[in-house]
Amino acid sequence: MKKILFIACIVLYGCAETPKQEPKPEPTFGIVIHGGAGTILRKNMTPEKEQEYRAVLAEAIQVGHRILKAGGSSQEAVEKTIHVMEESPLFNAGKGAVLNAEGSIELDASFMRGDNLDAGAISGVKTIKHPISAAIQVMEASPHVMLSGAGADTFAAEQGLEIVAPEYFFTERRINALKRVQEAAAAKKTSWTPEERNFLEHQRYGTVGCVALDLSGNLAAGTSTGGMTNKNWNRIGDAPIIGAGTYANNATCAISATGWGEFFIRSVVAHDISALMEYKGLTIQEAAYEVIHNKVAKLGGDGGVVGIDRNGNPMMEMNTPGMYRAHMDAAGNLEVKIYQDE
Ligand code: ASP
Repeated sequence: MKKILFIACIVLYGCAETPKQEPKPEPTFGIVIHGGAGTILRKNMTPEKEQEYRAVLAEAIQVGHRILKAGGSSQEAVEKTIHVMEESPLFNAGKGAVLNAEGSIELDASFMRGDNLDAGAISGVKTIKHPISAAIQVMEASPHVMLSGAGADTFAAEQGLEIVAPEYFFTERRINALKRVQEAAAAKKTSWTPEERNFLEHQRYGTVGCVALDLSGNLAAGTSTGGMTNKNWNRIGDAPIIGAGTYANNATCAISATGWGEFFIRSVVAHDISALMEYKGLTIQEAAYEVIHNKVAKLGGDGGVVGIDRNGNPMMEMNTPGMYRAHMDAAGNLEVKIYQDE
């Protein structure tokens, strides 16, 4: 009897000790993009304009989706998707970027990969056609993470990236926007009509970003921007700062942010979302909600984030009336949205 009991104990102990095998998720992929968050209101939008934005968002995300579907890397998907938006005059990145106080253009971008936490960034560049590619090149071909100003332009030229005359980036719309913002500043106005406030706030935004998960389970994130209209003294926002505007880690998620950069730097938005997932076990949605609504908003900032977690779950969160954004899953389902309530 004793012997039987002894054997039973051993068997039960053995069963209890067998480590539970988590079912390994099937390889999947996905991609999420944004084209800036801000005071984007239906009443200020024409159906044609809205259609134009939706079309470029759809075109851009499909470029990345094709790469991922064919087994390409999340790095390539993010880079090529952002190229489409950098080339579109609709967005505040590459062509169509906002003007600084001197009437010139200074571009910022960053990129991060989730498998080895490699990252690259450039800020204040003036001649690089695709700032996102320069950020990637800093990661791949220099011993540094961030290059700025004329040095970054020189580096990109030496690396053989496409260089353009500064005029390439200029658009009528951004020239007029700078004029209006500077006129408003010169008038030293302290109160604004709702229309004026809308206009001025809208001029801050339009950054582009992309996050992707590839079939090998690798995450990547990239962000590219012209910063804020009328920015001064070589101001740099969150977009080129790893951990603030961009972050990727295969253990958690990939994040790209857009919004009032000063608040996003102070809240270390992109890394904070990843950290809440890593250390507190929050989902990507819960983590993003916490950071945008309970941290950035409480400091007085606004904007949004897009992300994707290591299982392919997408996230698009904002505390502004709108954010240009799109998501595509492995099955090819596409959603393109502009307003917060969509
Ligand atoms: N975050 C960018 C910046 O502050 C602006 C934006 O996202 O629209 O430079």
